[in-house]
Amino acid sequence: MTSRVLGPGSTLGMLGGGQLGRMFALAAREKGYRVVVFGDPADSPAGQVSDLSIPAAFDDQDALLQFARQVDVVSYEQENIPVPTVDFLLQHVPVYPGPELLRASQHRLLEKTTLRSIGIPTADFARIRSAAELHDAVAVFGGDAILKTVTLGYDGKGQARVRSTDDLDAVWKRFAVPEAILEKIVDFEFELSIVASRFMDGTCAFYSPVRNDHANHILDLSVSPVEDISNSLRVEAVEIARALLEHFQVVGVLCVELFVTKSGSLVVNEIAPRPHNSGHLTIDACSSSQFEQQFRAICGLPSGDVTMRAPAAMANLLGDHLLNVTAEQWRSVFEMPQVHVHMYGKAEARIGRKMGHITAIAGTAADSARIALAARRLLGGG
Ligand code: AMP
Repeated sequence: MTSRVLGPGSTLGMLGGGQLGRMFALAAREKGYRVVVFGDPADSPAGQVSDLSIPAAFDDQDALLQFARQVDVVSYEQENIPVPTVDFLLQHVPVYPGPELLRASQHRLLEKTTLRSIGIPTADFARIRSAAELHDAVAVFGGDAILKTVTLGYDGKGQARVRSTDDLDAVWKRFAVPEAILEKIVDFEFELSIVASRFMDGTCAFYSPVRNDHANHILDLSVSPVEDISNSLRVEAVEIARALLEHFQVVGVLCVELFVTKSGSLVVNEIAPRPHNSGHLTIDACSSSQFEQQFRAICGLPSGDVTMRAPAAMANLLGDHLLNVTAEQWRSVFEMPQVHVHMYGKAEARIGRKMGHITAIAGTAADSARIALAARRLLGGG
């Protein structure tokens, strides 16, 4: 596999055309790279700001070959890219991060088993393949747990809170999957994430951890720096991210989602093999954003500067926030000097759909959060 440096003018392939691909394309094209999106049409969030889109299926080998011939390197913006797609592309062009991290982050059982095997703490979990196994595991976990599908779950989808008093036969029947994972409930104080990157020479870079609040299982607000954690917890978060970057020999960006437990320890919830919603504040708060880190890594370039220039907070803009928004309301948000608006170019605002985000930069993390939420309230709708 090549480790040659790809400079501006090179062509970067992106699997997936969502908002993460869009922000990657914006960062890379600003520096003079070309970007080709695979898997979504030209009017997708990423396609709108890329040089070319190939809207083919991920198992269309003719289209994948056409894509591979046009690009110098490939990365991905979501974890549900089929692993065989990456394996096929790898015969023709480098793909970062490679298939192993992708495989693990697509499958909750494999993910948690891998984390445990390298000594990283996770919630207690059990593999469930029948109602009988569900009964047994719920009893072992003390009666309060979360049943999750092993694949294709995100933003709380494919999950059910279960108690020993529930009709577990009915719960299992409703899930209608051959295999699931049952996780013990982690009694957490708050949720934290850390976005990290690793480069071809093995060096790693870590953003300051971010505190995350969810609403209806969807990320609502991310704030950094996190004032409520000790230095040793900060170091521990970095070491967990480093262990994962090294275990998977990542070239690119990953995010580790963690719980800070009431007893003050860290437990990993899941890994994203790509930039993450909680890292969007790096666009406005850091010299090198998580998307710049992604293209730097896959192009064989060194890390940029990931230190925060100022405290920041990011509030997601969902369809719910934008249902009846007027130009006058937008005007009042654009009037706020500390606020940066990022919209993803999605035509239809639906409830729960991520349409954009607002980042506020202020003197303290608390002020940033207050301003980001105030800006969002100006748009109405929640
Ligand atoms: P996930 O899709 O696995 O990231 O889960 C979505 C959200 O559900 C998380 O952000 C947590 O708020 C909550 N959650 C998931 N797993 C657990 C757990 N084992 N204990 C407590 N809360 C959880």
